[in-house]
Amino acid sequence: MDKKIFAIFGDPVSHSRSPLMHNSVFKKLNYPASYIRVHLLDGTKLRKTFFDLKLSGANITVPHKEAAFEACDEIRGFAKKVGVVNTIVKENEKLIGYNTDADGFMFAIEEFDTPKHILILGAGGTAKALSARFLQDGIKVDILNRSEGRLNYFKNLGCECYTWGSFQEKKYDLIVNTTSAGLKDEDLPAPIEIIDTLLNTTDFVADAIYGKITPFLQLAQKKNITYKDGADMLLGQGVLANELFVSHILNTSDINQAMKESFLY
Ligand code: NDP
Repeated sequence: MDKKIFAIFGDPVSHSRSPLMHNSVFKKLNYPASYIRVHLLDGTKLRKTFFDLKLSGANITVPHKEAAFEACDEIRGFAKKVGVVNTIVKENEKLIGYNTDADGFMFAIEEFDTPKHILILGAGGTAKALSARFLQDGIKVDILNRSEGRLNYFKNLGCECYTWGSFQEKKYDLIVNTTSAGLKDEDLPAPIEIIDTLLNTTDFVADAIYGKITPFLQLAQKKNITYKDGADMLLGQGVLANELFVSHILNTSDINQAMKESFLY
């Protein structure tokens, strides 16, 4: 088998652990492939860059997941529902788009009590995927975003939607930060007064950001709230993406084990 090349597209992308995770699987399970990082500034160039680099597949991270949906020839499974793609596989010179983020997140929160009412902070690609997945399980979802622009999608799904200015305090079982606040900066995902009040009533908190304890999680930690960073979500989505990359010829638990080991480096 020819050696295949896979990549992660993002901006920023230097923080991404995906190359370590996927290369760990390829190396440990003797699969002839390597996985690289591509710093992509313009999402409309994704398709051309994919073919120029002769890739067999890719993952897509912030802020290009919606552009990735547009770049594909065919969309399969959950990605169809949400219009957001985090995994692309080339099949007969066609780009097939998938979304493995939402199931990766469900895996991550398995150890939390089953939530009935969730607040999602942010209204980007990750928020779309998670809200649709939660609603599928009958969980009530509210959205709080910095700006109004992206909220229509969520209103149409049946979510209660707020901006910072219109937010009304409630009790949630779980609050999930899907904004990129805290990724490259020390920002909170909403003004401190809102976050502080929210954290006084919630039982569980999760952040999609991994590799650091964000200011949001630091506050949760101070208040003794059970929290998770994005590492388990990353692992979950990574295992599902890798299965697609290798056309399911490797065993899932072997992929999971080899990928987990990469978190120790
Ligand atoms: P998008 O660019 O699609 O959306 C970003 C969202 O964050 C928007 O709602 C935006 O609000 C909001 N936002 C950005 N900056 C700030 C800020 N300073 N304060 C408040 N809100 C802000 O991003 P994605 O949904 O693709 O990714 C979001 C985060 O989730 C990233 O940090 C990414 O790394 C992480 N992630 C982690 C995964 C994992 O496996 N652990 C998987 C997927 C994502 P507005 O609409 O006002 O611009």
